[in-house]
Amino acid sequence: MKEEVRFCTAEECKRLTTLYLCTVCIVELADLLQDVTPILERIDAVIYRQTVTSAPGAGGGGGVASSKPAMNVDAYMLKAHLHSLPTSAHAEAMENTVAGQTLYMAREWVTSGRDLVWGPEEKRVYGKCGVLQDAELETEDEESFHCDGPLVAHPDDATVRCPDCNTVHQVNELLDRLRQRARGNPLPPRGVREHLQRSARVQILTKDFENWVQLGKLAYVLDRVTTNIRAQRLYYPGDVLTVRQEMRARRRM
Ligand SMILES: [Zn+2]
Ligand SMILES: [Zn+2]
Repeated sequence: MKEEVRFCTAEECKRLTTLYLCTVCIVELADLLQDVTPILERIDAVIYRQTVTSAPGAGGGGGVASSKPAMNVDAYMLKAHLHSLPTSAHAEAMENTVAGQTLYMAREWVTSGRDLVWGPEEKRVYGKCGVLQDAELETEDEESFHCDGPLVAHPDDATVRCPDCNTVHQVNELLDRLRQRARGNPLPPRGVREHLQRSARVQILTKDFENWVQLGKLAYVLDRVTTNIRAQRLYYPGDVLTVRQEMRARRRM
């Protein structure tokens, strides 16, 4: 690869770089992108926030309070925009000849997203309650469902009470749950590499992957409980991305 020096493609940025973004802009973009996943984890609660009004007698269905929540269209659009952002600032700076535009849009969208889910009024949205509920204790059928109650709290609150089922949640457990979800579903090594290539445009060499495993950097799960010696090991894509970032940062020092 030829090391060509050019101007950073970000608007108003006159710094020189061998990529399409300068280091300062890469750091800014990485910082913005870091918030995309947490925002996306919470944005559905904003999109489908329950309306307080429930017209009595409307529909005439009787009894069941299943009024359709109003949809926040702006939040819905924003969700689509956030999904279109890349996962890696560095990959973007390397590959996208107009990476400056990505930074510009990321500033717009992530800022709106932060306002929307963490709120100007200092409310934090932690997603849905998700507590498993039994419909009737007497019924033999396992008619259970997950509670849809929206969990919203002040940033200082250590606990959140679900407005629907009254379950009290610990905020740190909710955050763990969100982090866990960001790890993705566990896959075999090859599957992880293909997944990251597709979804994050990140290429991971087999030998790097094996190296990280050898160094004990990657946690794994077995694909089934077995007494077999050769049970397949599965890895979380999110973990692999984190380790990759770590290793690159170390190399650059
Ligand atoms: Zn720049
Ligand atoms: Zn609940």
